Amino acid sequence: MTAHTDCPLCNSDGGAVLFRNAFLRVVDAQQADYPAFTRVILNRHAQEMTDLNQTERSSLMSAVYLVEALQRRHFQPDKINLAQLGNMVPHVHWHIIARFADDKHFPNPIWGVPREPAGVSDSHELQPVPSRSAQTSQHVKAYHRDITQSFTALFDHPDQTLPQQTLFEQTLQQIIDS
Ligand SMILES: [Zn+2]
Repeated sequence: MTAHTDCPLCNSDGGAVLFRNAFLRVVDAQQADYPAFTRVILNRHAQEMTDLNQTERSSLMSAVYLVEALQRRHFQPDKINLAQLGNMVPHVHWHIIARFADDKHFPNPIWGVPREPAGVSDSHELQPVPSRSAQTSQHVKAYHRDITQSFTALFDHPDQTLPQQTLFEQTLQQIIDS
């Protein structure tokens, strides 16, 4: 494994770890306006998805989809944003962000321009939506517990990178239907 001494995701977890196996980790990336923000991070250093082999790509994306499904179960968001940018930190990691039509930036990306509150478009102080993030915060503990449990059930196999696909698809469907 190549050590990248100047890479923050090689040198630290990148957030509170909710689950980790030999290949990837899932971390709590919550921000004030986005309590459900979660990241799936490749443990080893690789810059692009095409630096991974097919099994690794499938495993990483399965992890992203499992987080997405769990966000649907716990938050019923209007949309889920999946983002893999890496312009600032070129180490493969995915952002999974539950979005709501009344959140701070909707319909822009969370890194974009905040939404202007109705009627105060000339104000310099753009107000966040405290009720939305407070409401989301109430479910974060249960969501994090579910991440740990669901990932442990599906991804905690030292001898295989990829979860068993039939079981994985069944679980994903159960979560979405619940
Ligand atoms: Zn790295």
